[in-house]
Amino acid sequence: MDGTMADPENFYRKRRTESRVATPLLSVIVPVYNEEDVIDIFLSETRAVLDAAVTSGEISAFEFVFVDDGSRDRTAELLAERLSADIPGRLVGLSRNFGKEAALSAGLSHVKGDIAVILDADLQDPPDLIHQMIDGWRAGYDVVYGVRVDRSSDTFMKRSTAGMFYRLFNGLANIDMPANAGDFRLIDRQVVDGLLQLPERNRFMKGLFAWVGYPSMALPYERPARRAGSGKWNYWKLWNFAIDGLTAFTTMPLRVWLYGGATVAALGFAYALYLIIRVLLYGSDVPGYASLMVAVLFFSGVQLLSIGMIGEYVARLFNEAKQRPIYLVQDVVEGQELANGSGEKDV
Ligand code: UDP
Ligand code: MG
Repeated sequence: MDGTMADPENFYRKRRTESRVATPLLSVIVPVYNEEDVIDIFLSETRAVLDAAVTSGEISAFEFVFVDDGSRDRTAELLAERLSADIPGRLVGLSRNFGKEAALSAGLSHVKGDIAVILDADLQDPPDLIHQMIDGWRAGYDVVYGVRVDRSSDTFMKRSTAGMFYRLFNGLANIDMPANAGDFRLIDRQVVDGLLQLPERNRFMKGLFAWVGYPSMALPYERPARRAGSGKWNYWKLWNFAIDGLTAFTTMPLRVWLYGGATVAALGFAYALYLIIRVLLYGSDVPGYASLMVAVLFFSGVQLLSIGMIGEYVARLFNEAKQRPIYLVQDVVEGQELANGSGEKDV
């Protein structure tokens, strides 16, 4: 059972359906890092969907919020060009590459819409699902998140490690994070404001999305392969990402070591007692090199491991304690005024 799925009879959700604005302004948040190859195809496909949504009266207007996460290719230049030509919204240029999680936070603080949709630039999040997401929002859900039904575009290795991660996370953390949901989702303004209130520097967005709560709906979809350009993840990055996520949402590993340590200490104490009594009754014996070595090696291993575990949390405390901003913006390029569907500037 999906923990974040709201009860269909949810009281608040019903109230929301009555108070929703008739035609919301939609902001589309797109983090981009070295995406020059996909920008034009992304814009034309997404634009078509959004124009249709305006024409059919689903939304009043839309804006793009591109966050250039320190691209080293022509991404920023191309986007600024398209924005000044006929694309409504803005380009937020970060001062260097801060990573997708930070870029999303930057995007969230630059949206003006009543609702926001988060899309990857590589068209792995199919834009035509936006229609269904808006329907979900109208039905009172503040979060409509995409769930990958089939991960066949991923390798077996990636699928099984991802599955293990979700089981581990949901087993240990006190929040329920839906499996196979990425950042692709529609969120209400209320959720945007909620996310912006979270002060932590470690932005494990999937976890933060789950943490804020609100009536949420899952929208299954098939995730296509990246359209052009190349992905930026490798296993080492994913592994570290998983550790960041786990340590940000649960202190259970520390507790496991507490109980593990207590058990080992109790056994050690009992054995020591036994040895003392044996020496008192029968005198001391010299042999015992093997057992001594085993004990020394075993316990020093356990100690190093537990110090490492504590270190992970101390490192996180260190990072949070510095209170550095999550990202720095070097420039904001404003595009055209809000589009009314035809892309013409409102005068
Ligand atoms: N991205 C980013 N900063 C980074 C890495 C990626 O803003 O440091 C953006 C990237 O441009 C894309 C999205 O995040 O729009 C997803 O990236 P990618 O396709 O590499 O990830 P995957 O689809 O494998 O999750
Ligand atoms: Mg991708």
